[in-house]
Amino acid sequence: MELIERVYRLNPALASSLKRIIWKYAEEIRRREGKDFKIKLMNFCGTHEWTTVHFGLRSLMPENVELVAGPGCPVCITPAYYVDQAIKLAFDGITVYTFGDAYRLPTVRPVKGARSLMEAKGLGAEVKLVYSFLDAVEEAKRDCRTSVFFGIGFETTAPSYAMVFTGKGVPSNLLFLSILRLTPPAAKYAVQAVEARGLSPIQGIIAPGHVSTITGAKPWDEVSRETGIPAVISGFEPIDLLMSVALLLKMIKNGEVGVRIEYLRAVSWEGNLEAQSAIRKVFYMADAPWRGIGFIPKSGLKLRQGYGKYDAFRQLGLKELSPEEWKYDLPPECRCAEVTLGMCKPPDCPLFMKSCTPDKPWGPCMVSIEGTCAVWARFGGGGLADVVGKELGLV
Ligand code: SF4
Repeated sequence: MELIERVYRLNPALASSLKRIIWKYAEEIRRREGKDFKIKLMNFCGTHEWTTVHFGLRSLMPENVELVAGPGCPVCITPAYYVDQAIKLAFDGITVYTFGDAYRLPTVRPVKGARSLMEAKGLGAEVKLVYSFLDAVEEAKRDCRTSVFFGIGFETTAPSYAMVFTGKGVPSNLLFLSILRLTPPAAKYAVQAVEARGLSPIQGIIAPGHVSTITGAKPWDEVSRETGIPAVISGFEPIDLLMSVALLLKMIKNGEVGVRIEYLRAVSWEGNLEAQSAIRKVFYMADAPWRGIGFIPKSGLKLRQGYGKYDAFRQLGLKELSPEEWKYDLPPECRCAEVTLGMCKPPDCPLFMKSCTPDKPWGPCMVSIEGTCAVWARFGGGGLADVVGKELGLV
C-alpha cells in the first residue's frame, strides 16, 4: 500500500513528466485539428471524478483537453420508482435493508410524507442500514419477518450478491429488489447522447478500474469499437488518471480505437471469470431504466427464474417499470441527467449549493460521495488544484 501511495499518489516528479506528455500530445492534436477542436474525455466512475476534483487534475490540463464526468455513480442513476416502492414497503411493515448512500436518496414526490428511506425511518417505517448484503442476510436469519434488500450497484457489487445466492446462504424471508446496472451499455449511451444533443463529442473514455476487475477489458473494447473512440481502463490514484489521459491522447493522436489497460495491477483482458459465472448463474441481462435518462438496452440485471422465490417483484406483486410507463424522474429543476451524461457541470444547475447541498440533497447526484454534484460541492470543480498544484510546482 505504501509503495502504491508513493508511486501513484505522492509522486510530483512523475506527475510533472506526465503533464508535459499530455501537453505535448494535446498540442500535436491541436496543430492537426485546429484550435477549436476540443478533446473531451469522459470518466465513467464516481471515484475517478473524486480523484480528478480532489487532486485538481483539471487544472493540469491544456485548454483543449476537457475532462467530463459520466454516469458512474450507482446511487445517482437509481430510478425514483424503486425508492417509492421501497418506502411503501417499509411503511407496510416490511423491513427494507439498504446501504448508507441509498438511504438518503430523494425521490420526486413524498410517499406517505417521506422523500427518502431516511425520512421514512424517521416517520416510523421499517428501514435498516447495512454495510453489506451479508449483514442483511445475517439479520434476516435472526428476525424471521419478511424483509427486502434494496439491491443497487454495478458489476463490482453484483458478485457479492450472486455468490451469496449461489452459496445458498439467503434465508427465504429475505427478498431482493434488483436495481443492478451494467456500465458498458451506459457508457455507449452517454457517448451517443452527447453527440445527438449536438454538443462537442466525447473523444475518449476513461473506463472504470474496479468494474473492469470483474468484467475484464473485453466489454470496453466493444464499446470503443462501437463508438469509434478509444478507451483506457484506469486506476484511481492521480498518477493513474494522468497516465490514462496521456494514453488516450496518444491513441487519439494516432487514430487508434480499442482499449488499453492502465490499471494493469488489477485488471486483465478476461476479468474475474468466477465472479462473472456467479453473476450469470443468478441474474440475466435486461433493458433497464436509469434515473432521468430512461431505458438503456441490456443495461440491467434481474434475478433468474431459479431464484424467483427471492425476487421482491414476483413475491410481493410489485410491478416492474416498463419503457411505456417510465416517466422523467428528477425533481423540478434538477439537472442530474445532464450532469451524469457529461452535458453540463454541477454549477450549471440553478439549485447547486443553494437549495441542494450535501446536507440537504434535492437531487440524486448530491447524495453519494461518488455523485458528481456532491464531489464538486465538497471540493469545488477545480478541487484542491491551487493548493496541490502549487505545492507540486505544476500550476
Ligand atoms: Fe440535481 Fe442538486 Fe445536482 Fe442540481 S445540484 S443537478 S438539483 S443534484
